[in-house]
Amino acid sequence: MGKEKRIVVKIGTSTLTGGDTHLLRPQIVELARQISELIRNGNKVCVVSSGAIAVGREALEFPDLPKSIPVKQMLAAVGQPRLMNVYEQIFEIFDCKVAQILLTREDIRDRRRYINARNTINSLLDHDVIPIINENDSVATEEIKIGDNDNLSALVANLIEADLLVLLTDQEGLFTSDPDHTEKAELIHRIESESIPEEIWNAAGGTQNGLGTGGMVTKLQAADTARRSGTHVVIAKGDLPNILTRITAGEKLGTHICSLVDTLESRKRFMLAGVVQKAAIIIDTGAKRALLGGGSLLPVGISEVTGEFDRGDIVPVKGSDGKDYAIGLVNYSSDEVQKIKGRQSGEIEPILGFAFGDEVIHHNNMTVLR
Ligand code: GLU
Repeated sequence: MGKEKRIVVKIGTSTLTGGDTHLLRPQIVELARQISELIRNGNKVCVVSSGAIAVGREALEFPDLPKSIPVKQMLAAVGQPRLMNVYEQIFEIFDCKVAQILLTREDIRDRRRYINARNTINSLLDHDVIPIINENDSVATEEIKIGDNDNLSALVANLIEADLLVLLTDQEGLFTSDPDHTEKAELIHRIESESIPEEIWNAAGGTQNGLGTGGMVTKLQAADTARRSGTHVVIAKGDLPNILTRITAGEKLGTHICSLVDTLESRKRFMLAGVVQKAAIIIDTGAKRALLGGGSLLPVGISEVTGEFDRGDIVPVKGSDGKDYAIGLVNYSSDEVQKIKGRQSGEIEPILGFAFGDEVIHHNNMTVLR
């Protein structure tokens, strides 16, 4: 395999249950084995998994998917810990540790919560723990709901700056028309054009299955979002042998929706678009050297703070000559940085009474401009 990648694998209810009403454990073992292999090869893998409601239904013996939202939320609350328990036991076979992350739209939209979610997921990945992410269904209301795990997986891909998003489903990929209804439906191998052609959107409209909330349209929407933040997307059939390891080895399987920018360019655009005006962190020459060498910004290298910002804001980092050196998501507010500037990281906690980490800007959350 080539260079190590950051990968998001979205496992839909249809893949987890094989279209039935209960979990297909051998299928999960198979996927866990492949994911553990990807991790052993140096990749960082995040799983976005549906299935909470399906498992809740199995546990409480609900024959049909109820229409009532509170009842669905109840089923998710019952199913989610059971689902995690299955993942934990199965990944344990392959010596992998897992963690549960439940997100709502607000966690990604609100800057402070955004940086929390991002830092937690990145810490898990740094420690080779597999984040297993689902929507926080039991508390999500209409306003804060992402709605489907396809779109959630695209937001996660953006959050961790993934190189690859694999959407696993019960179809081989996107077809020119619904393969269940037309014989001449052909698999679309690759979408490279800047905008996804209208006929492909129309063709995607046909597929809906009973258990997941997705279908091909949400997969296409998710792919369209992810490719704009620098992630290459593959829609593929979850139960094909070695599907994940074959995709990462470069085999042409499923539908590839090519990224439109590289992750670095996308991060730069994202950061430049959100940068706080009239604020800056001024650094000394030691810090400048550290940043250019790929290090984080520590309080000791900060000589001055101008303007105001909050934790989670995107702030320019300048030299004493006024030149921009980097932009990044700050772990501390301007008031807090005022108090800790020039000090050792070990002094952050005694001075502030708490610490969000040793770095004012972690290198994972920074773009160096020169
Ligand atoms: N979050 C839901 C669940 O775990 C599934 C959403 C989806 O399938 O897109 O049951």
